[in-house]
Amino acid sequence: MEAAAKIASDTPGVSLPLRDAEPRSVTILGSTGSIGSNTIDLLQRHRDSFTVEALTAHSNIELLAEQARQTGAKLAVTADSSRYQDLKGALSGTNISVAAGPEAVEEAADAPADFVMAGIVGAAGLGPTLAAVRRGAIVGLANKECLVCAGALMLNEVARAGATLLPVDSEHNAIFQVFDFERDASVSRIILTASGGPFRSAELEHMVQATPAQAVAHPNWDMGAKISVDSATMMNKGLEMIEAFHLFPVTAEQIDVLVHPQSVIHSMVEYIDGSVLAQLGTPDMRTPIAYSLAWPERISAPSAKLDLAELATLTFEKPDLERFPCLRLAQEALNEGAAAAIVLNAANEVAVRSFLDENIGFMDIPRVVESCLERHDEDAVTSIDAVKEIDARTRAAAAEEIDRI
Ligand code: NDP
Ligand code: MG
Repeated sequence: MEAAAKIASDTPGVSLPLRDAEPRSVTILGSTGSIGSNTIDLLQRHRDSFTVEALTAHSNIELLAEQARQTGAKLAVTADSSRYQDLKGALSGTNISVAAGPEAVEEAADAPADFVMAGIVGAAGLGPTLAAVRRGAIVGLANKECLVCAGALMLNEVARAGATLLPVDSEHNAIFQVFDFERDASVSRIILTASGGPFRSAELEHMVQATPAQAVAHPNWDMGAKISVDSATMMNKGLEMIEAFHLFPVTAEQIDVLVHPQSVIHSMVEYIDGSVLAQLGTPDMRTPIAYSLAWPERISAPSAKLDLAELATLTFEKPDLERFPCLRLAQEALNEGAAAAIVLNAANEVAVRSFLDENIGFMDIPRVVESCLERHDEDAVTSIDAVKEIDARTRAAAAEEIDRI
């Protein structure tokens, strides 16, 4: 790692002077989203410790321009080429450079920031995240879809470029904090906790009728629409099993899911001697984001502190694969191999978009995914071009299935 940041805490009485006085420079891919906005919030609270290199977004030009002005970013990029003039206009009178289009987002990831937050949603994040990896950056990985569809290829690139991948997804961040990487043979199991989402205890008949507004109303976390629907179908936990398989030295059989409605234990690692280590906290993404931004140091975050006496009870239950078939489909894809994971992810992205647009019902999401998985070819996935090809083919197949529905 290049610059050990000088991290100053904003909490009175707690300061963490670091050895190196150089601020860490940060690029945020997907700055206008939920992960992106939480990252900006932390940067604003630690202005002496971080500078902003580039911010990228898609449609929310107004917020992107406001964030660029507030953080003094050098570069602001929209992935939507048709919005170039809008962004240019919104940043007129500043010396912030402006660019547009998917290639410009990849170029922003390539700009020389010490740390890149990968906060784009969906497989659209793959190219830009890879660009950051390939130049050996420290990458805070929130975008789980890119590991699901290109995990092995990405990890090869990480090793080749000497990049550092820090898991931001709360479960993987928790495991990262308690996993003994030097003695991985002593790990018997990792346990991903799941809130169960808004339909954890709903009847199947109710789930069939679920509206987008009900599906995105997550009981514990405030997130973007796509991941909120994924949480409601529990596809999110399925994607996270595949993400964990790539991030940690464990087999698919060593990855378990446990429903824990309070979202206080963010995940656990079980060791061969029976010890179980966990990371706990209130459900606020600013904790794992702060951990990754400052790693290997720690900075203060405004997340509410955990009050276990106030909470009094933590509960646990097994996931219900009947009402949440997406979790079963993801487990099957994980066992099947790389092409199945790409199909799972692409079909799910198309189905979730269609559900949010009110074209299909909530329980049609697993139907679309299952039909694409049943029809796909078990191609070898040896290049990023192969990933893109299977992804595109699946999106077309999923659109056909939606037409049939
Ligand atoms: P949001 O929908 O809130 O934000 C997505 C971001 O990506 C926005 O900045 C959006 O721009 C941008 N974007 C959307 N489409 C494209 C595209 N085609 N090209 C380039 N940029 C694009 O998502 P979240 O922040 O909730 O999630 C981001 C990622 O992090 C997801 O992979 C999710 O699974 C993961 N994650 C999120 C968590 C959370 O708490 N939100 C927790 C754990 C993981 P614009 O808004 O301008 O359109
Ligand atoms: Mg998660």
